[in-house]
Amino acid sequence: MILLQHVGKRYPTGQEALTDVNLEIDDGEMAFLTGHSGAGKSTLLKLLAIIERPTRGQILIAGQNLSAISNRRVPYFRRRMGIIFQDHHLLHDRTVGDNVALPLVIAGVGHQEISRRVRAALDKVGLLDKERALPITLSTGEQQRVGIARAVVNKPAILLADEPTGNLDPELSLEIMMLFEAFNRVGVTVLIASHDHELIRIMDKRAIPLAGGRLAESHPAQSVPLQ
Ligand code: ADP
Ligand code: ADP
Repeated sequence: MILLQHVGKRYPTGQEALTDVNLEIDDGEMAFLTGHSGAGKSTLLKLLAIIERPTRGQILIAGQNLSAISNRRVPYFRRRMGIIFQDHHLLHDRTVGDNVALPLVIAGVGHQEISRRVRAALDKVGLLDKERALPITLSTGEQQRVGIARAVVNKPAILLADEPTGNLDPELSLEIMMLFEAFNRVGVTVLIASHDHELIRIMDKRAIPLAGGRLAESHPAQSVPLQ
């Protein structure tokens, strides 16, 4: 479970990006962080991946308080999550297979295990035949799928995606979302920042609306108390 308690983030510039955010995301849930540009979506994802640290409150993931994780331990912590950005940060002088292998190489996984897991990840995103290709020869949608394969090659329990369909047309966007849903179906917790309302509506998952760094009123159907 992901738990945020009274989380605030003020950047060194003085910009307050998040204010008193309280949020609970269950294991195995798939949810969307929504809101206009500047609402704080990226910042929230960065706090979960310890790319940034909160200036107030606390964050727990699977019972572990992130403030107890030293900067030195962050790379180990991050192995449990897959992170996907809009611009997929692929290395263009390496093959698709080498790009996907990167997290495993860094983690010191053995050569044979790397080939096996890279192929399994490429298979899941439908790019097994592109293992030896250079990213530049692939379409935008395919490049984004390489980014997803790289994010899941470690079999993370949590997938974080920041505007993963920002550059894609509606059809490709839906295709990428179906991929996330497939990972979610096998138990991966998925949190996606997106301002694509149409896509979020189609996916019919929990939407977590941020506005000006605060959690806004959620969808009426979800804010009705249970008792
Ligand atoms: P979103 O992802 O919803 O567009 P962000 O989390 O990127 O929102 O930004 C939230 C606010 O924090 C914005 O006002 C943005 O300008 C500011 N911000 C984001 N990153 C930084 C940074 N590194 N330094 C200073 N301000 C930042
Ligand atoms: P192995 O378990 O032998 O490494 P696979 O890599 O093919 O074999 O994965 C086994 C199963 O684990 C598949 O059904 C796959 O969908 C599922 N799985 C669970 N979590 C993840 C994840 N984060 N990324 C990819 N697959 C996952």
